[in-house]
Amino acid sequence: MSVAGGTPSSMEALVLLGPGDFELREVPTPIPAADEVLCRVRACAICGTDPKIVKGAFPGVWPKSYPAIIGHEWAGEVVALGPEVAASPRLAARFAPGTRVAGEAHKGCGGCANCLAGHYTICQNYGDLESGHRHYGFTAPGAYAQYVVSSVKALHPLPDALSFDDGAMLDTAGVALQGIRRGRVGVGDTLVVLGPGPIGMFTVQYGRAAGAGRAIVVGRGDRLRRAEPFGAIPIDYEAVDPVEQVRELTGGEGADVVIECAGTKTACTQAVGMTKKGDAW
Ligand SMILES: [Zn+2]
Ligand SMILES: [Zn+2]
Repeated sequence: MSVAGGTPSSMEALVLLGPGDFELREVPTPIPAADEVLCRVRACAICGTDPKIVKGAFPGVWPKSYPAIIGHEWAGEVVALGPEVAASPRLAARFAPGTRVAGEAHKGCGGCANCLAGHYTICQNYGDLESGHRHYGFTAPGAYAQYVVSSVKALHPLPDALSFDDGAMLDTAGVALQGIRRGRVGVGDTLVVLGPGPIGMFTVQYGRAAGAGRAIVVGRGDRLRRAEPFGAIPIDYEAVDPVEQVRELTGGEGADVVIECAGTKTACTQAVGMTKKGDAW
């Protein structure tokens, strides 16, 4: 028996059964709703949040209940279309079976004030499945599985030049891009990025592409060293005081733009301490 076009009716998925409890299980292959498509997952990254969800760090929220399938940084190919997608010539062409796509974690309700303003990642109906809101891999099934369903609103066709592995970084890359845009990095600016994790690394590269004259990265160890090929000036916070160091590198003024990608209280405090007074714009 198959869902569509030879897709098996069951699939393997990493199923969370409770806090810290999971196993590889055979489960039914999901069926795409009206505005969704079914995709075969070809790559799925492990987000920093995922191990916390697995351990049960967000009880009753992520996941809302067990069993659950998480995973929200993925790329794959479309294998079957929901009825509305199939009925729309434009969507059916854009998401024809075989199309390589990458998934976004968020799909807004589409009707609240924030969604209408384009800020669907802060949808006011967060977690309300009836409103149409989805946070794939958090409040809705994710991609630690052979197949996943997604609204076409949360899918982006991948250029041929981009591999599935690289495509799985779409969501992470988007977060960093938003930071650079909101930070309004200008030509010649000194940019500081605290935290050389995946989002920090994207932020450095986008910052350089946006015209930053210098990118300084605060971190430690292996990850800090990995920032150097991107032309970043490394500051090891274990060896020196990063606030003093940034002040020294900027003639005492502080950096034009500082973007905090570490997610710690210390980094937030340091970010304020190393930022130049005023707004360049
Ligand atoms: Zn993530
Ligand atoms: Zn909304």
